Amino acid sequence: MQNYQPATDSLKDKVILVTGATDGIGKEAALDYAKHGATVVLLSRDTRKLEKVYDEIEALGYPKPAFLPVNLQDNNPETYQKVAHVIEDEFGRLDGLLHNAGDLGLLSPIEHFDEETWFRVMQVNVNAEFLLTKYCIPLLKKANNASLVFTSSGVGRKGRAYWGAYAVSKFANEGMMQVLADELENTSIRVNSLNPGATRTKMRANAYPGENPETLPTPQDIMPAYLWLMDEASTDVNGQAINARDFI
Ligand code: NAP
Repeated sequence: MQNYQPATDSLKDKVILVTGATDGIGKEAALDYAKHGATVVLLSRDTRKLEKVYDEIEALGYPKPAFLPVNLQDNNPETYQKVAHVIEDEFGRLDGLLHNAGDLGLLSPIEHFDEETWFRVMQVNVNAEFLLTKYCIPLLKKANNASLVFTSSGVGRKGRAYWGAYAVSKFANEGMMQVLADELENTSIRVNSLNPGATRTKMRANAYPGENPETLPTPQDIMPAYLWLMDEASTDVNGQAINARDFI
């Protein structure tokens, strides 16, 4: 699927929730989805950063977005139920949900892994995704063709030493994707995972401080796969582990 080029209005009238929409890949995805006609619901923990992305989308003349400040470290199910209620009240449905927010935690052997960090990474990368998905499924069912996308990683498909909670959480994302893809097979919701591959962001720089970021693709470079998974071109794709690099 190299050089995938969607129509400029490929996401017209779609309502898409993007988590971790204030930085890196999630911010770029939110901007690109809006550019292609979607109304994006931006979710992240920092209200000021959310307002900045909101303003950027408005200034570019794209469909008016919405934003929801939520810290995914919050393990209270009501927080996520409320998110779904707000979206239902405002839009009545969801056409897409991109689970993008991620917590790297720290790189350490499991034998010495800090417990608090482990629990936080599992909350942000797994439990919050479960809660958000659970409460958003009824909204996704209300769309004609909905797309649920989990963000994976190379270490979520093949374990590697010292990647600890982050790697294990990404394996859990792949598992959640497969279970849901099977459960929802006969519905209008498709469920897939997407590995962005090494990308020039803050998270990557934290994981590889010695690396020259100029050698990496930017979030903009990997957007074709993000668009493809949300637009009608991928309607029949379900339960697949996709690599963004295959689209560049
Ligand atoms: P990033 O630049 O660090 O951005 C992460 C986003 O998630 C930010 O908007 C951040 O908000 C948000 N976030 C983090 N913790 C949160 C929390 N507790 N509550 C709400 N929002 C939270 O990361 P990225 O590199 O774009 O990564 C995006 C996704 O791709 C992640 O799932 C990551 O695991 C995956 N990935 C990235 C790479 C890569 O090379 N970059 C490779 C493989 C997979 P703040 O701005 O408030 O921090």
